[in-house]
Amino acid sequence: MIMENHELWQTVLAKIELTLSRPNFITWFRDTDITRMDDKTVTVSVPNGFAREWLQNKHHKAILHALRETNPEVKEVLYVLGPPQSSSHFKGNAPHRKTDAPVAPFPLGDEQSLHDLSLNPETGLNPRYTFGNFIVGSFNELAHAAAQSIVKNPGGAYNPLFVYGGVGLGKTHLIQAVGNALLANNPHAKVRYTPSEKYMIEIVEALRNQSMNALKEKYRSVDLLIMDDIQFIAKTEKMQEEFFHTFNALYERNKQIIISSDKPPAAIATLASRLRSRFEGGMIADVGLPDMETRLTILKKKAETKEIALADDVLRVVAEHITTNIRELEGALNQLVMASKLSASPITAETAKKIIATSAAAPKKFLSPKKIIKAVADFYDMSERDIVQQSRKKDVVRPRQIAMYLMREYLKNSYPSIGEKFGGRDHTTVIHSCEKVGHDLQTNPELVEELKAIRERFLLV
Ligand code: ADP
Ligand code: MG
Repeated sequence: MIMENHELWQTVLAKIELTLSRPNFITWFRDTDITRMDDKTVTVSVPNGFAREWLQNKHHKAILHALRETNPEVKEVLYVLGPPQSSSHFKGNAPHRKTDAPVAPFPLGDEQSLHDLSLNPETGLNPRYTFGNFIVGSFNELAHAAAQSIVKNPGGAYNPLFVYGGVGLGKTHLIQAVGNALLANNPHAKVRYTPSEKYMIEIVEALRNQSMNALKEKYRSVDLLIMDDIQFIAKTEKMQEEFFHTFNALYERNKQIIISSDKPPAAIATLASRLRSRFEGGMIADVGLPDMETRLTILKKKAETKEIALADDVLRVVAEHITTNIRELEGALNQLVMASKLSASPITAETAKKIIATSAAAPKKFLSPKKIIKAVADFYDMSERDIVQQSRKKDVVRPRQIAMYLMREYLKNSYPSIGEKFGGRDHTTVIHSCEKVGHDLQTNPELVEELKAIRERFLLV
């Protein structure tokens, strides 16, 4: 029996390992095992409370899914604290993973890992992110101005600085630029940049190695702490608590703290209120989407840096078609650069259109009700089902109204057909919801921001 449990867990681990970076996988799944299995409930033991919260809040769906693939009867997974289990999985590796690949210094799992090699281990900063190559427009000027004034006066009026916005819009670039600029002014300054996912891994490692004091010292002795993508920390209470103490230790000594997130503090449902009020006590600045002319400027500058000559009308084609974010703009530009290196004649606007149409960065034309519902659900950290079903839970009412409003605005769906998508609600309910949101938008700037962030999400997928 015990053997069976153990084997089942090994299959689950093998599946999950494929979807995570190695350090991430090891940190959260080491010393876990199935300790019990009743007909529908699987009990998984985990070595500490941090791992328990993280598995529960972040990996639960994947775990349940993997379990059900082997045993469709499984309905529930419980995570309990238990003594370390010797998990044979960690001696070997999943078959599809290249074992000789270098382990990334931290598990971002996105495009940035490409640049990991140039990371400074002392500060975590990438020297590529500077103010010199950061383009400013109305979409990011507030955040940029705040960032620059921090370089002049760290720990001053803009402490903490909280920067938020959608993916690929320059948050990481901007907040790292502060670190690099501060170091350029004062090479003795102690700067530490860390993505919150990496911070959490460090904490779990420190617990395991009984080196928590050293870790605390590492984070509490800096002049500037830059914590990227804080939304991940918000998923677990214990991590927030740990961060809260670090935050206070720095803040009390007038050390500068910069935080980034995909949404404003008030919209992070799981953010502890004491952290929220700390963040709101500082400066909050958003980065939005660059407009057409700014996108063109960005492309021109980037082409210049790459010392590649592309005609203005070619760049204009890119700027017109790639509207989602700056990372995708860069991606499309790189494709053109490659194409122009491979071809004898200069790239024309026509060729550019073709290249872009086939690229991953091509605009996704098909916006559907489902995409809107998913974007709203993701943004408010709830399930799509909560939003469409008849639940009267208070906190789903507003997200549901917003989803209805967006469907009306973006898809021009009729009121009755929107009602149908929401569990057969009456069209008068839909009209009321749309009017309510439309009305609130007039008076509630926070709601305006939330809608902007949600829009960015569904226009991206
Ligand atoms: P985020 O952290 O918001 O997801 P990044 O900072 O990783 O976005 O930016 C994505 C890419 O776009 C990076 O390569 C970055 O250098 C570039 N980028 C973003 N904003 C700007 C900007 N204002 N000027 C120049 N490059 C930018
Ligand atoms: Mg980032």
